[in-house]
Amino acid sequence: MTGKKPALAMVLSFLLVAAASGQRGRGNSPSQPTAPTPPGPPQVEALKKEVAADIETMRVQTQQMVDQVFSYGELGFQEFETSKYLTGILEKNGFRIERGYAGIPTAWMATWGSGKPVIAIGSDIDCIPQASQKPGVAYHDPLIEGAPGHGEGHNSGVPLNITAVLAVKQIMERDHIPGTIKMWPGVAEELVGAKAYFVRAGLFRDVDISLFAHVGNNLGTGWGGGTGTGLVSIEYQFKGESAHAAAQPWRGRSALDAVELMDIGWNFRREHLRLQQRSHNVITNGGDQPNVVPPNAAVWYYFRETDYQHIKEMRDIGDTMAKAAAMMTNTEVTSRILGSAWPQHMNKTIAETMYANIQTIGLPTWDEADQTLARALQKELKQNQTGLASRVGPLRGGLDPEQNMGGPSDDIGDVSWNVPTATLSYPANIPGTPGHNWANAIAMATPIAHKGVTAGAKVQAMTIIDFLMRPELVQQAQDYFRNVQTKDQKYVPFITDKDQPATWLNAAIVDKYREEMKKQYYDPTKYKSYLEQLGIKYPTVR
Ligand SMILES: [Zn+2]
Repeated sequence: MTGKKPALAMVLSFLLVAAASGQRGRGNSPSQPTAPTPPGPPQVEALKKEVAADIETMRVQTQQMVDQVFSYGELGFQEFETSKYLTGILEKNGFRIERGYAGIPTAWMATWGSGKPVIAIGSDIDCIPQASQKPGVAYHDPLIEGAPGHGEGHNSGVPLNITAVLAVKQIMERDHIPGTIKMWPGVAEELVGAKAYFVRAGLFRDVDISLFAHVGNNLGTGWGGGTGTGLVSIEYQFKGESAHAAAQPWRGRSALDAVELMDIGWNFRREHLRLQQRSHNVITNGGDQPNVVPPNAAVWYYFRETDYQHIKEMRDIGDTMAKAAAMMTNTEVTSRILGSAWPQHMNKTIAETMYANIQTIGLPTWDEADQTLARALQKELKQNQTGLASRVGPLRGGLDPEQNMGGPSDDIGDVSWNVPTATLSYPANIPGTPGHNWANAIAMATPIAHKGVTAGAKVQAMTIIDFLMRPELVQQAQDYFRNVQTKDQKYVPFITDKDQPATWLNAAIVDKYREEMKKQYYDPTKYKSYLEQLGIKYPTVR
């Protein structure tokens, strides 16, 4: 850190946090004080106020984007309509688009502006298998039975970022503010399938600051590591020999036996792994029919742990299990990596700056209809009927990695180890949902999501202005990245130079439902909202 101002700010923030730290739970490292970044010079604060007011006037456009992407409901690597639509908007607004980024057909990078700083802004776009759900209806009621749907809420993040960036761009143009905006989509996040390849392709090489947005049920952000996991996603393919399963079974070598033995072995071994690990699998090929000894079978594992070393060790154990199962069954095994994610480590300065803007914006004003939907869904799911978020949570940070007991992963982790990054959570969803489920789709094309995205867009835009206008914050973020975060731990990708993105995944499922889903794509020229198009009364409760 250089200069008088940041040093003073540090002292101030230390005093503030020293007072508050008594209330926080375990895992907070006392040597890492944290507090929202103090306001900038008056002209910067005025621009931030202005950009938030502009975003308020963009509500209709924001709502249309959220509803449109919701109606596409595309699974990872198959986000063709979604990407065409989003890049179309950006292109119309003067962004240069690079399509098929990193060899991924649905990936893209959109760039606008010139010079420093370079600010990257991203969010995910893919949805969840079998999560089709009518929005605004507080119980399971699929739009199309069995079809994919936005049961995570990834329809809202890029619309949020586009809203933020278009508002910032207006101000940059008018006031001749230098800086480059690079927008990118989290393709196939549910498969942790793309971001390591974006890193490999150099997307973040010239980036100074990276802002990410992920749907949640409150406004929030945090810094440091110590939560969640990273993972390697691998499919093991076994090859044996077919035979008549009744006439000459002794001539067969069953690949399915190998899959089952590997799974049994893994499940026994799991008892003796660290409590932090998470591992799960699906059998992607279990043979064709019982009277044919399966000559080919495959099983797909996610191996999750809380740090790079332990993830690597788990993967090695998986490889050993697979080889052992092949030996037991006289089959052969090969494997391929389908995705990977580093555990996340978020930047202190970015999170503190974002959090100050979160405090300024605060939560949206929910009305009775929003609360009725939320409470009815909570009742349906047998959760506490607390309704929607009513106060902004604390700034999370400085958790002790030793206390991390595992959890989910996001390949934004890879980005966070290559460039100073923080994630904005925004309140577009209902508290108490299970995640990766139809219930998580219910709010995502309703006023709850629309209001939450508008609030999030304001925070994101204000944070961009902070980093465009206050070079000392960029410096401070980079200091943390270089001298604290990556001092002893360097990024080593889980993917090798030879690995390729698993872009074939989900193609068959999306093909199966595409024609039926097309009939329900949102048409904003005819309907004010997707709810209106579907003829759904908001809210619909039992
Ligand atoms: Zn997600």
